[in-house]
Amino acid sequence: MLKRANLPAHPVYYELFYIYATGATPELNAQINELLTANGQIGDDEASELCERFLEVTNLDEKLRDLSEVMNSTISNVNASIDLAMATANSYSGSLLQASGDLEGSIDDQALQALSTRLLKETRRMQDMNRKLESQLANTKGDLAVLQSDLAKVRREAMIDPLTKIANRKGFDEQLALEMEKAGETRAPLCLLVMDIDRFKAFNDTYGHLTGDQVLRLVAQVVKANIRGRDMAARFGGEEFVAILPETELSGALTVAEHIRQAVQSKELLKRSTNEKLGRITLSLGVAQWRGAPESASALIERADKCLYAAKSGGRNRVVCETSATDAPIAS
Ligand code: GH3
Ligand code: MG
Ligand code: MG
Repeated sequence: MLKRANLPAHPVYYELFYIYATGATPELNAQINELLTANGQIGDDEASELCERFLEVTNLDEKLRDLSEVMNSTISNVNASIDLAMATANSYSGSLLQASGDLEGSIDDQALQALSTRLLKETRRMQDMNRKLESQLANTKGDLAVLQSDLAKVRREAMIDPLTKIANRKGFDEQLALEMEKAGETRAPLCLLVMDIDRFKAFNDTYGHLTGDQVLRLVAQVVKANIRGRDMAARFGGEEFVAILPETELSGALTVAEHIRQAVQSKELLKRSTNEKLGRITLSLGVAQWRGAPESASALIERADKCLYAAKSGGRNRVVCETSATDAPIAS
């Protein structure tokens, strides 16, 4: 396959084609097939993009494996130091016990001399041991700080969608839980937008998945550009996006949704490589406001989703939200 794609026998490309051969990621297979059909080969840039996108999870797994190895060996080292310290302390207390026994009986000068020499030696050994332990623990402290920051980095990476570079589903779930907690305390309004690209399957079928991916990046940027600092945009999955809008009333959320809808619709898409005109795409959006505790995150998402479906069945390229009075979806 590497030969056919005209790619060098680099380990990451092996990995890419290994996943291809297993068929585990249909999206990857579709893109590789598409490139091979269109160009008869895969360029270096395209291959790196495929790696960046489809091997991300594997890389993350690898990073976690590496980190857990370092952590295991650090813990083993600390354990070994503690064992040694305990053994030394035990033998020292044995020596002290024996010395106190010796001192209870009558003891001549020579024996006293020998006893104090022995105790001094034991004490020095104990001191040495303590110094060693101290420096070992100081080193470990440094290692642990590095580990901690590496883990934080991996954790952050695990919450980013590699294609669009905005938050992924996991990042969204965590942030929504956090914002619901805050809104529960402050009683500030909290709204959720869910968005789905209209007829995206047809777009992909016409222009190919790689071009489709560029569109996903564009939509992510548009959503991000239309929200404020504390808001969060995320890729919910596939061609669906969400935005969390804290401290925002339903009317404000509707305005944001409408801005996003118009901004997406207004972009005339061009294929970068050929400047070919690809027409426009549109978004359907659902908006819901959290009802406060005890409403769960999934209940809120479900209500916003219902509005999204109403927007789809109402003709697409529109925003729908619930009226608080009737809970019936209405188009803006
Ligand atoms: P609707 O207006 O009802 O939403 O129609 P649709 O075609 O957008 O909906 P459907 O759920 O049938 O298809 C979603 C399509 O989104 C399928 C797939 O081609 C595309 N898609 C999902 N994830 C990706 C992705 O990561 N990259 C690309 N290029 N396309 C994707
Ligand atoms: Mg969809
Ligand atoms: Mg869609």
